[in-house]
Amino acid sequence: MGILEVKNVNKRFGGLQALGDVNLSVAENTVHAIIGPNGAGKSTLLNCLVGKLIPDTGSVMFAGQSVLGRKPYEINQMGISRVFQTPEIFGDLSVMENMMIPLLAKRDGSFRMHAIESLEDERELRAEAEKMLDEVNMLDKQDMHSASMSRGDKRRLEMAMCLIQRPKLLLLDEPTAGMARADTNNTIDLLKEIKEKRDITMCIIEHDMHVVFSLADRITVLAQGTPLVEDTPENIKGHPKVKEAYLGE
Ligand code: ADP
Ligand code: MG
Repeated sequence: MGILEVKNVNKRFGGLQALGDVNLSVAENTVHAIIGPNGAGKSTLLNCLVGKLIPDTGSVMFAGQSVLGRKPYEINQMGISRVFQTPEIFGDLSVMENMMIPLLAKRDGSFRMHAIESLEDERELRAEAEKMLDEVNMLDKQDMHSASMSRGDKRRLEMAMCLIQRPKLLLLDEPTAGMARADTNNTIDLLKEIKEKRDITMCIIEHDMHVVFSLADRITVLAQGTPLVEDTPENIKGHPKVKEAYLGE
């Protein structure tokens, strides 16, 4: 059994079947990529995993527990974190202040700085944030104004904001979309580093095949809301159905 088990998930938007009988099993401590053309239902599937959408039918189990019917912050507390396409950081805040937010959010789902309860509480939160910033080599940047950092550093900060919640499953929706090659390569290195150093499972949606083949242990190809094939990167590369439906050959 995988750490994530999706069974027979269906999701319609009016007359459109966005997901049709999706089955997906993600093994613990692996990187599982989901690829497929635009409109295939990749983001919809991810939204069903984090509680942003509720499937019409089917089940989503994480570490043996159902995520369905839980609020996004409750799912977050279960150990699922998500990284967005554009880094979701607070540009007006410093790096350190940004790091405190996910720690506070994990308590009750709110993003309120005044949720800090006491000076002692603040000291503990800061210490935890410093530890994580050190792990991602950003400790020297803790007082920087976040908006003024490079795109690569913003992505690194966003990853640190996810990792400080100690997720068991990290979901990434096109983390390198719109990036220049150098930033894409930095992101690949960062994700490899995370994969090697931590007990973490990653589910990544990605268009850039270089990123997919650099990171993935397994690949699921989604087409028109249904998994077409699931296999190792080596087999996916040569799969005739995939070439036809996705790589356009
Ligand atoms: P992908 O991420 O693979 O590009 P999406 O999951 O975003 O695809 O979308 C799958 C299909 O569902 C598309 O046809 C899209 O237009 C449609 N869709 C997605 N979200 C909604 C929504 N909230 N309401 C109506 N249709 C939607
Ligand atoms: Mg999408």
